[in-house]
Amino acid sequence: KSTAVINALKETPRQDPTKKEMAIRKDTFSEIYNSFSQCQTSEQGNRCVTCGNHSFCEWTCPLHNRIPQWIKLGREGKILEAVELSHQYSSLPEVCGRVCPQDKLCEGSCTLKRHNLGSVTIGNIERFITDTAFDMGWKPDLSYVKPTGKKVAIIGAGPAGIGCADVLNRNGIKAVVFDRHPEIGGMLTFGIPSFKLDKSIMTHRRHLFTEQGIEFHLNTEVGHDLSFDHLMKDYDAIFIAVGTYTSMRANLDNEEAEGIYDALPFLTANTKHIMGLPQRPEEPYINVKDKQVVVLGGGDTAMDCVRTSIRHHASKVICAYRRDEENMPGSKKEVKNAREEGVEFLFNVQPLKIELAPNGSACGIKMMRTEMGAPDASGRRHPIQIPDSEFLLEADIIIKAFGFSSHPMPWLAKYGVKLNSRGTIIAPRGNGQYCQTTNSKIFAGGDVVRGADLVVTALADGRRAAEGIIKYLKEPIQTAPHLTNE
Ligand code: FAD
Ligand code: SF4
Repeated sequence: KSTAVINALKETPRQDPTKKEMAIRKDTFSEIYNSFSQCQTSEQGNRCVTCGNHSFCEWTCPLHNRIPQWIKLGREGKILEAVELSHQYSSLPEVCGRVCPQDKLCEGSCTLKRHNLGSVTIGNIERFITDTAFDMGWKPDLSYVKPTGKKVAIIGAGPAGIGCADVLNRNGIKAVVFDRHPEIGGMLTFGIPSFKLDKSIMTHRRHLFTEQGIEFHLNTEVGHDLSFDHLMKDYDAIFIAVGTYTSMRANLDNEEAEGIYDALPFLTANTKHIMGLPQRPEEPYINVKDKQVVVLGGGDTAMDCVRTSIRHHASKVICAYRRDEENMPGSKKEVKNAREEGVEFLFNVQPLKIELAPNGSACGIKMMRTEMGAPDASGRRHPIQIPDSEFLLEADIIIKAFGFSSHPMPWLAKYGVKLNSRGTIIAPRGNGQYCQTTNSKIFAGGDVVRGADLVVTALADGRRAAEGIIKYLKEPIQTAPHLTNE
């Protein structure tokens, strides 16, 4: 039997969705992947061998999505059943299907991959199911929910805040979400570029969530437009999901010179420009047309910056990273996309100093070559500088994408919420813990607890915290009647 299965899998290999033509990709900010059709979903979904009651992909997915179960429903064309099931475990499946690093999560642990047969295209099937359900006019049916009269304030409308609000709302607890941005989504809207995630997706979600009873107060910064004390007084519990917004520095000479930018303000201003939103003086729109751009860093943010620069028609775009390609933190899929679009990669190089032109603006970076050292205790290999290997890398624009650390939250100080040495909030999860901080009324999750991480882990934290808040408020878990036997 297994030989027959293997032969069938070889006859129907893994297929990724097709991509838009290169001319369109390099010229516009629209999503690059075409959707799967029902036919492709059935064909690719049939490759799932349902390897157990709780399969490896399900355990590797931070949301523990019921993947084989909704793949089966999706391939049979039972879209409405599939979408209902996926929404019991995820608040934003159409987003995760697009932006999760599946090669490192669900698809990375697929049994077929471990047998060199190419993993099931889980992310694209997840995206197809939700997009198709929305096209059919589907909306979650929450008519079974009984209001409890309790209300919770959520600070931050990124994936952590949304995950928490969704689960609370499904359990009759009023979720009131505050965000300083003019649209929900956090990094989904103002970090991740629209060629990976179209901006209409979060706007659609805002309409749906609002219809379901979640209240959003946008353009409202806690600590500035509204006091945290007020929230502590007026709400039954609080969930903090404010992300991490301090850009890491390289501590290079001349790092503040003209022509050097941090990745996030560069990306945010670009997205606001596309969305027709007003710019902020401290976050001006930068167009790099006809410039030689060097992006420093090797993660997903760096890939977003190089690919944004390509779409601005920069004369040359180089990604410079201090490790080798094997040890890049970014998703392999995004590195491949960047390379296809014309980005050049310089591996094993480390910046030493920003070089200045006579007018004081940046004109290049003094670099040094590196080689990979032995793995440390965590298994990560660190770069070692090669003596006498300095060289000048010319650049008109330098974008730093070294990651993020937490930003100050002075309004928390008097409430006894402990932070760790990196400035992130201590709010343990797992093993019977539910993202509760050292103040029992305050919960926290997502990047503000983990440090800069992933959309799916932020969503998982938000949902976990909501369970903790429901317990803290001594309310019962409410289950949709049609799912009680699921
Ligand atoms: P955020 O998404 O940062 O949301 C926090 C929200 O809180 C923001 O909307 C902010 O405005 C709001 N806020 C902050 N302070 C206040 C305040 N005082 N009052 C009111 N509101 C406040 N992850 C992936 O999985 N895949 C990717 O492809 C990917 N690409 C990325 C690309 C970029 C450029 C960046 C920067 C990150 C990327 N990530 C990616 C990481 C991912 O976006 C984050 O890990 C995730 O969004 C964290 O979710 P969060 O809800 O914790 O915080
Ligand atoms: Fe995979 Fe992410 Fe979807 Fe989980 S949420 S099944 S990890 S794509």
